Amino acid sequence: MSAEPRNPERPLELGIMYAHTCNIACRHCGILSGPRNHARMPLDLAERYIREAAALDERPSTLVFTGGEPFVFLKELEHLLGLCNRMGLSTRVVTNGFWARNEMRARRILHRLRLAGLDAINFSADKFHLEFLDPAILRRAIAIAQEVGFVAIVNYVFSEPGDPVSEFASMYGIPIENIRPFYESEFIRQVRTGTVPPEVGEKINLSWGRLVGLGRAAEYPEEHFLSALESFDYSPCQEVVNRPVLYPNGDLQACCCAGGKIAAFCVGNLKAAPLAQLLHTMRQRSHYRFINTFGPRHLYEAVSAARPDRPKRERHASICDVCVAATRGLCAEEADRITEQWVLSRLLRTDLPEAVDERAV
Ligand code: SF4
Ligand code: SF4
Repeated sequence: MSAEPRNPERPLELGIMYAHTCNIACRHCGILSGPRNHARMPLDLAERYIREAAALDERPSTLVFTGGEPFVFLKELEHLLGLCNRMGLSTRVVTNGFWARNEMRARRILHRLRLAGLDAINFSADKFHLEFLDPAILRRAIAIAQEVGFVAIVNYVFSEPGDPVSEFASMYGIPIENIRPFYESEFIRQVRTGTVPPEVGEKINLSWGRLVGLGRAAEYPEEHFLSALESFDYSPCQEVVNRPVLYPNGDLQACCCAGGKIAAFCVGNLKAAPLAQLLHTMRQRSHYRFINTFGPRHLYEAVSAARPDRPKRERHASICDVCVAATRGLCAEEADRITEQWVLSRLLRTDLPEAVDERAV
């Protein structure tokens, strides 16, 4: 597989996980964040990442601060946002909104970050967050964010069948008419064509996904709403390659969901190589291109066929679960080799006629 894998429809976003530390320890946290997880990036490494990101030939559309909980390190967050701003990079932060316990303080914090250069906020919310944070805190955080001029986007994890919009509305005590479903690809198109509808700024934009059985989530199998492999379609995933994340130890992970847990998703370490080189290496990886082109279900089936000795899992909690189950325990080289062979065998099957006419030989 040697074709250029970048999807022009999908802008490059670079994530930065400055720290694993979080003020809470949700049961479904895939990266084992919590108050006692002190893994944190040296500040100069974070600065170097931002400077190198700004100097890339293909400029990232956004630098995304994720965690852990980025607001736990407010001073550093403000400093790094300021650096992004000076480098001309757009920014977004992903947060659980805990900083809105006190209204006055929350307003001050958001104004400060807005001034530093923060462009967008994504909130994380679901029943697992509610075990630690009163729903009024998220409601207040959203209201203040909108007042300061941010679009309110909430990422919601659901783990049982049902309507995520009405579930979220009743769980958080928000009138359902104030919530609209949010589909990211559609939003990206609207931004590109200048057709973002006014309700995006007026309402709470809810995007949702299912659990990934990694990290702490793996300790609570009873929370996983499992579906048969056949119920997942063959859609490609554009997260990998287009949204890599730098972890606190300097590892660049090719996608945020599997990164840090599945070895084959680690691209390399920023302490050992420049960012441009890591991104180049990432784009050469057949495993990721396969996911971009053929999707996680094909990946699962390709690996199962190539390695029949591996345990089979017929039921999965999400499409990401399918994706990580496919390559769990495989090294990068084997994942690349299996996907290359699958593509080659498919090409040969397509190009060869069903039967060779002997008279033509
Ligand atoms: S899911 Fe988010 S809020 Fe919850 S522990 Fe993990 S990083 Fe913190
Ligand atoms: S489907 Fe795979 S590549 Fe895509 S986000 Fe999930 S784990 Fe990452």
